[in-house]
Amino acid sequence: MAWDFETDPDFQEKLDWMDGFVRDEVEPLDRLKLHPADVKNPLYNRLVRPLQAQVKAKGLWACHLGPELGGQGYGQVKLGLMNEILGRSHFASSVFGCQAPDTGNAEIIAHYGTQAQKDRYLRPLLDNEIVSAFSMSEPTGGSDPLTFTTRAEPDGEGGWILNGEKWFSTNAKWSEFLIVMAVTDPDAAPYQRMSMLLVPTNTPGVEIVRNVGVGYAGEGSEGYMRYTDVRLPGEALLGERGGAFVISQTRLGGGRIHHAMRTVGQARKALDLMCQRAVSRQTRDGPLASKQAVQMQIADSWIELEQFRLLVLHTAWKIDKYKDYRKVRKDIAAVKVAMPRVYNAIATRALHIHGALGVSNEMPFVGQVIGSLVMGIADGPTEVHQVTLARQLLKRIQPSNELFPSYSIPQQREDALEKYAEILAEVQETEAA
Ligand SMILES: Cc1cc2nc3c(=O)[nH]c(=O)nc-3n(C[C@H](O)[C@H](O)[C@H](O)COP(=O)(O)OP(=O)(O)OC[C@H]3O[C@@H](n4cnc5c(N)ncnc54)[C@H](O)[C@@H]3O)c2cc1C
Repeated sequence: MAWDFETDPDFQEKLDWMDGFVRDEVEPLDRLKLHPADVKNPLYNRLVRPLQAQVKAKGLWACHLGPELGGQGYGQVKLGLMNEILGRSHFASSVFGCQAPDTGNAEIIAHYGTQAQKDRYLRPLLDNEIVSAFSMSEPTGGSDPLTFTTRAEPDGEGGWILNGEKWFSTNAKWSEFLIVMAVTDPDAAPYQRMSMLLVPTNTPGVEIVRNVGVGYAGEGSEGYMRYTDVRLPGEALLGERGGAFVISQTRLGGGRIHHAMRTVGQARKALDLMCQRAVSRQTRDGPLASKQAVQMQIADSWIELEQFRLLVLHTAWKIDKYKDYRKVRKDIAAVKVAMPRVYNAIATRALHIHGALGVSNEMPFVGQVIGSLVMGIADGPTEVHQVTLARQLLKRIQPSNELFPSYSIPQQREDALEKYAEILAEVQETEAA
């Protein structure tokens, strides 16, 4: 019977170290005008590289990876516990070498790349010398990849000519390369029409139309991309021709659960601040914490967070156990649906309990609420994951053609009378005697 919610003391020590390190050394970076993907910025080299060296010395670098790629091979449960700490800070994932979207991009190059592609892209990516972007969604619609039109045509010499537009290619402006999903075989079956291509960002014809910001931020880092007659060699193809859907599922499954792990950290931060404010802010007859309405919001937030955290860690445990993302599709879909709701509810309550200060730009809550809305859209909107989950649940259920279901109470009573007929008759006889 292995059903254990305890953390090994050795690993707990590592988590304790991370907790203090992130609080004291990493969270202050979030207050500077420096972006975690701006890896060539001299300030990044001065401030972030020494912290990364400390993480490496502690053996905590790139823990999402197996030892063959320079990670620890900790698995998803340990990663989940680590990501809860890292999730508190914008910079922490980069300091620990496990930042999106590079993690997912590295994962698919490691899995599907040729040796030459690994040498060129994977090693510097894992070392955080460069960053990458994933260019899949299109301005005409992101939820349904079957509608994508960006096209890569054979150039007749073994290479490709890429044309089309992509939308919200995160970190494109800092990227060394983009992984672009493009139609290569328009006449093939729907899920075999597209391929993945590795496109160096400085290739002629690659253009960032604009850098879109999330919320009211000024210039952002979500690249609106235009590819015009971009000439690529044959080696640009990542994995098999027509294999883009399989590759993207490998990437997105892991990405979604990692976002969820970090979201636990953000939601906990909101809850901690909510509690802090509740006990500190005074009203005429005592602190906010003495009001039942406030207590209810705190209690509900804790319950929702604990439920979500267990769902995330249980899913992580299943990933470790099955080592096959197809077996956890429904679990990951459930996590993806729960994530924006739980985060939004807790961040909104934390904001509300802080009053005007809560909605101001002097607190993190507006950013968190926007972050929660992003979680409901990025990597596919909530509705799509609800459908995935429901389909997975329903596919195992056999339909019944009885007029009244077998679980109707009169039917169940009839079944019970039949099952216990002998005993009931015996008891009746004894009573009558
Ligand atoms: C911050 C952020 C970062 C992102 N980073 C990347 C990235 O790096 N690379 C990348 O390729 N993409 C990225 N995306 C894009 C993201 O994957 C898409 O936004 C997402 O897939 C939804 O596509 P869309 O925005 O075109 O919305 P649409 O497809 O237009 O959908 C809009 C809304 O319509 C509804 N809807 C759509 N389809 C259905 C359906 N089948 N059933 C019911 N309702 C439906 C939903 O309410 C949905 O929210 C990012 C998005 C955000 C917000």
